[in-house]
Amino acid sequence: MGGGQLGRMFVHAAQQMGYFTAVLDPDADSPAGRVSHHHIHTDYTDVDGLARLAGLSDAITTEFENVPAPSLENLAVTRPVSPGADAVAIAQDRIREKSHFARCGVECAPYAVIETADHLAAVPSDLLPGILKTARLGYDGKGQRRVATRAELEAAWTDSGGVPCVLEKLLPLDFECSVIVARSEDGQMVNFPAQRNLHRDGILAVTEVYPDNIPKAAAQRAISAARSIAEGISYVGVLCVEFFVLADGKLVVNEMAPRPHNSGHWTMDACDMSQFDLQVRTLAGLPLNPPRQHSAAIMLNLLGDLWFVDGGEAVEPRWADVLALPGTHLHLYGKTEARRGRKMGHLNITGESIDAVRSTADFAAAVLG
Ligand code: ADP
Ligand code: MG
Repeated sequence: MGGGQLGRMFVHAAQQMGYFTAVLDPDADSPAGRVSHHHIHTDYTDVDGLARLAGLSDAITTEFENVPAPSLENLAVTRPVSPGADAVAIAQDRIREKSHFARCGVECAPYAVIETADHLAAVPSDLLPGILKTARLGYDGKGQRRVATRAELEAAWTDSGGVPCVLEKLLPLDFECSVIVARSEDGQMVNFPAQRNLHRDGILAVTEVYPDNIPKAAAQRAISAARSIAEGISYVGVLCVEFFVLADGKLVVNEMAPRPHNSGHWTMDACDMSQFDLQVRTLAGLPLNPPRQHSAAIMLNLLGDLWFVDGGEAVEPRWADVLALPGTHLHLYGKTEARRGRKMGHLNITGESIDAVRSTADFAAAVLG
């Protein structure tokens, strides 16, 4: 379910193992639909489309969390669906997500739920300055507004259309990290090392993974928190949990994604098994082996902005110059139109040491402008 780049990379991994794939996505030109054996282009709630998908599939998964949960329930009547509608429904809604984190004993940023004007009036002042986030349908910083005063908060909530929101206290971040786990139907669970993430304008820009990229204690806490968050909903599939590490070293959970994640793309070239390989295994009911990282890695996200560094018309970046650098692995998602802020691909850089990888990353960034 879903035809974006995450679906495309899943399809590639599944096909590598000989599986046939079917993608349901309303866009006739979707990145995953283009490479799948079957592409059903209907809406996610189209009963006929869902029936066709079920007819073609032995098992069904999702590549983005905003697939309507009732559609997953519909499919689950006749086919195994993982992650299940319950888990996806929790991840779709920041309010339910935060309650789940609390149930698992993992702390998140101080917050208030705002669903009514009364809630708004009752917001404690110590949550300001804060970030107002819509409870549903946010991604890449969309659906979020930083607010410093009560007046800004009121204006931001009104601008949201008065939809359910959470106001989170703005925390002093030292850095951000995330952990990807894969859990099977029979409860077997494996994880990748914690990855260190740098965001720009609310969008992931860089992920770095090398020994001691994160203080050991914080990395261990993040891994055990991610595992208990998955365990707590008997999750089946690949799950990513995002964390903040604060200036005082404290670990705070941010959000989770019920699918492979942009911050896990480095696993495609720096591990013996990628996050998409593990997604295939969980879906097919195959054994999960702990993945092994064999190289230090940096992932650079390639946003559409790189096509416009000279101003004017879109110009394809100089890939040949980037690929002349050691340990560079280019992944492009087959999107025909570059737009600013649009994820067009990513560049993985691998090497023996993080110093070598860093210097290559600096060269690559300079080439790309
Ligand atoms: P999205 O669903 O768009 O990824 P997030 O909730 O992860 O939304 O927020 C995007 C980014 O905004 C985070 O990765 C972080 O850099 C910043 N951010 C979000 N919440 C906070 C917070 N409470 N304090 C400080 N920074 C935050
Ligand atoms: Mg996020």
